[in-house]
Amino acid sequence: MLLKEYEKLVSSPQKAEKFLLKHCWPNYQRFCPQCHFRKVQKLNSKRKCKRCGFVFTDFSQRYLDCVRLSPDNWLRLVKLFEIEASPDNIALQLDISYNTARKALTIIRLAILANSLDGPLLLSLFQLNDLISSQKTPQLNQVPILGIIEEAGHIFVDFLPEFGVDSFIHLKQNFCLPSKKIGQIIYTSPVKQYLSLLIYDQGISKRFNLSHQGENLTLDGNKSFWPFVKKRLQNFKTTSSLNFLLYFKELEFRYNYRQKDFFITLVKYLTTFKK
Ligand SMILES: [Zn+2]
Repeated sequence: MLLKEYEKLVSSPQKAEKFLLKHCWPNYQRFCPQCHFRKVQKLNSKRKCKRCGFVFTDFSQRYLDCVRLSPDNWLRLVKLFEIEASPDNIALQLDISYNTARKALTIIRLAILANSLDGPLLLSLFQLNDLISSQKTPQLNQVPILGIIEEAGHIFVDFLPEFGVDSFIHLKQNFCLPSKKIGQIIYTSPVKQYLSLLIYDQGISKRFNLSHQGENLTLDGNKSFWPFVKKRLQNFKTTSSLNFLLYFKELEFRYNYRQKDFFITLVKYLTTFKK
């Protein structure tokens, strides 16, 4: 989207809200987010389903409803995410707390993950929607292992449900699978159809005495996706495999949209119902 068009959208909260509503309700016809019944009763700014009694606003049960931000600030935040502004800078620019900026960025990443090919599987396996909405510090119940596939200029960062930490340790200990590390992220030489496996090291290297001294891995010779990732990983500091998962789904999305304008795509993702 051209900057002058974007400026019109954020020129007032009303214009921003109208734009978001167009994506939430394409023909402006409301239905119940719970049971999809079309007969609803209007109650001031809310509506009540005439079948199941669910009371909802225009944004209920959608990703953007997870963080309290005005419609115009949501659009500004999407723009700042698009240009990769830091959470500190976003908080400063929008005059919101650092925690709100962080939470909103997590919601954008979750919406990206939800709309990726293996999104439905990841959401149900890790119950990500509930996990991220909860007040506690979210932790995944298992360490996800990802596999990189490059095909016709596109990258797929696939979650490998059948490939657990045990399989990874087995490959390291019994087949000397070469690997290296950037921060806490381990990447490997090719396995099956994957250019590399990716895993967040939450202490397994120490526990199982695994070394990551590989040299000239196939991924190091990659001239497209890996340089794109590597320069971004320098600013990526996390202590959880959940953030690792969300961040790599973001990188997959950013890479595949690297020559496209993805502002509207992100707005569409944020206005979808949580799956
Ligand atoms: Zn209903």
